[in-house]
Amino acid sequence: MNIRVGSRISGKSTRSGVILAQKLHAEGISNQRVLQVIARTPRHIFVPEILAHKAYDNTALPIGQGQTISQPYIVAKMSELLLDDGMPASILEIGTGSGYQTAILAQLTQKVFSVERIKALQWQAKRRLQLMDLHNVSMKHGDGWKGWHSKAPFEAIIVTAAPNEVPQALLDQLTDGGRLIIPVGEQTQVLKIITRDGDQYHEKQIEAVRFVPLVPGAVS
Ligand code: SAH
Repeated sequence: MNIRVGSRISGKSTRSGVILAQKLHAEGISNQRVLQVIARTPRHIFVPEILAHKAYDNTALPIGQGQTISQPYIVAKMSELLLDDGMPASILEIGTGSGYQTAILAQLTQKVFSVERIKALQWQAKRRLQLMDLHNVSMKHGDGWKGWHSKAPFEAIIVTAAPNEVPQALLDQLTDGGRLIIPVGEQTQVLKIITRDGDQYHEKQIEAVRFVPLVPGAVS
């Protein structure tokens, strides 16, 4: 696979990033823009220093507070699903975590809104995005079950923690034609894509996944 270096963002592809992108391509990720962004995003700054040597493995890793940075494959898959139907002008992300998925989305779209319930994680993520010179992200400390009412509606919403049922607020905050990508379930979880069509919602199941739970309420 030939991965070209994008011009809009200052970051350049790194050898480890390109190898990771090639692995994801081999696993079925085909969107070139997503692969390019993976190749040039320094995942090692999103994980604890002690795990930096594993940063370009295709695995989830602990980031503290009982949370994990998502597996690169699933980050790429969800990003690809978001872009499938054209470029959403703005994306709402629930579960900022390390900020890695946020950084990927910020390089793919004009504006990202991201909600995180654990303040310490949100602060670290904010610093990392600044380091990467990504300034098109607004962050909120709060409960993602409620979405982000004052910024709604969104053409796309992505949830990176699993509720046991789809939060009604997120369905309400989609534009007509908008899409919600969300893992749902407890022991067994499935990644779903839900598309709004007026008052109707169409649901498609993508694949089995494993995410930390979407916990109600925010912690300071
Ligand atoms: N995409 C992130 C995934 C982090 S794990 C990454 O790659 O790093 C999921 C995140 O969702 C955790 O940081 C967790 O604190 C957050 N989370 C869980 N419940 C939440 C809620 N109700 N509202 C907002 N964030 C929540």
